[in-house]
Amino acid sequence: MPNLNEFCYDILQKIALLTSIKDEESVIDVFCDVMMGKFDDLQSIALLKLDRIFGDASLKVISFNERSSMLCVGSGLNNPNFLEYQGLNQEIFNHIKATILENPEINEHKESFLGSDFLIKRMNQDKQITFFMAYQFAESGRSQSKNELDESLSQNNIVSSIQLIRCLSDIYSNQQQLISLNDKDALTGLYNRKFFDFKMTQLSEMNVSFLRRKAENDKHSYLAILDIDHFKIINDTYGHLYGDEVLLHFSQQMQKVFRDDDCLFRYGGEEFVVILKNIEASMIETILHRFRRHIESYQFPRVDQVTISIGVTELDGSQMQSNIVDRADHALYYVKEHGRNNIACYETLVNEGAIKGVSNNEDDIELF
Ligand code: GH3
Ligand code: MG
Ligand code: MG
Repeated sequence: MPNLNEFCYDILQKIALLTSIKDEESVIDVFCDVMMGKFDDLQSIALLKLDRIFGDASLKVISFNERSSMLCVGSGLNNPNFLEYQGLNQEIFNHIKATILENPEINEHKESFLGSDFLIKRMNQDKQITFFMAYQFAESGRSQSKNELDESLSQNNIVSSIQLIRCLSDIYSNQQQLISLNDKDALTGLYNRKFFDFKMTQLSEMNVSFLRRKAENDKHSYLAILDIDHFKIINDTYGHLYGDEVLLHFSQQMQKVFRDDDCLFRYGGEEFVVILKNIEASMIETILHRFRRHIESYQFPRVDQVTISIGVTELDGSQMQSNIVDRADHALYYVKEHGRNNIACYETLVNEGAIKGVSNNEDDIELF
C-alpha cells in the first residue's frame, strides 16, 4: 500500500522537473508519463487544443498517451498522423470533441461513456486558444473506488485518485501557461508579433472556411492596424514609463471594448492588430470608430488625451499573407497623412481612387 505522503512527494518531485523544461512538447511527455506511471486506473490521456482564432473552432489532439499491455506508449506529438494514432478511439474522440465544442467555456466535465469514466479539464483561460486534458479511466466506477490507492486513501477518508488527478492537472496547467507566455507580449499580455506572423502563415496555408462564409451570409473578416498618434511625443514629454503605462491602458481598453471573438495582437511598439470575424460590411467602420472615440475620451494617467489612427482591410482569402498587412498599412498611412485620429478602409480608398492598390506581386503596385 503506498503511503499518501510518499506518493504525493514522488509525483510532485517528478512534476517539479517540468519547471526546468522550456518546451511544450517535452512538458506534455513528462506529465503524461508521470500520470500513467502513478495511476493504474488511467487508460489514456489526451491533450486537446481548441483554436478559435480563425472563426470555425477546430479541436485537435496534440498529444495522446495510452496504456497498452503494461507499456505506456509515447505521445503522438511528433507523429504527423496523430489522428490515426494507435489506440485513439474515434468514437470516443468524436464524443469528447462534441462535448467541448458544445460548451467551450467548460472548466471541468466528468461522465461515463462506453464503459469508461472520463474527466475533461480545461487547462488555460485563453478564449482564443484553449487547451483541454481528457483522462480516460480503465473502467467505469474504478476511478472512484476500486483503485488500490483509492482503497488505502479512502480508508483514511482522504482523497480519491480523481481528486489527486484534478490537483495535478492544475499544477500542470500552471506550467503550461508559463510556456504559452512565449506567444504573449510581456507588457500587455496580448499575442505578440511572432505569434501573429505564425497565425498569418497558417492562414495563408489553410483552406479558410470562415473566409468563405461571407458568400453565404454576407459576413466578412477584417484585419485592422491601430497606431497611437504621436506616441513619440508622449514618450518625450512624460517619459518612457508613462509611455508604457499608456500602452498597458490601451491594451486593456482593447480587451474591454472588442468582443471575445476578436483576436488582439501587439504588432510592434505602439502598433496593434485586431482580426474581426463575422462582421457585416456596413458595420466595420462603425465598430472601429466606436473604439477610436472610446480612446479619444479615455482618461489615461497623466497623459490627458491619446488618439489613434486605424487602417483596415478585408480578409478575403485571395491575398498573399504579406499583402494583407500591406493593405491595412496603406490605409493607415493615408489616415496619418490626412490629420490622424480617424479610420480608413483600404478597399474604399482604392475604389474612390484615393490611393493606388497593392498588387499580389510583392514588388509591384497596380494602377486601378
Ligand atoms: P505617428 O502619429 O506618425 O504614428 O507618430 P508616432 O510618434 O506615434 O510614431 P513613431 O513611429 O515616430 O514613434 C513611435 C515611438 O514609439 C518611438 C518609440 O520610441 C516608441 N516605442 C516603441 N516601443 C515602445 C515601448 O515599448 N514603450 C514605450 N514607452 N515606447 C515605445
Ligand atoms: Mg507606428
Ligand atoms: Mg504612432
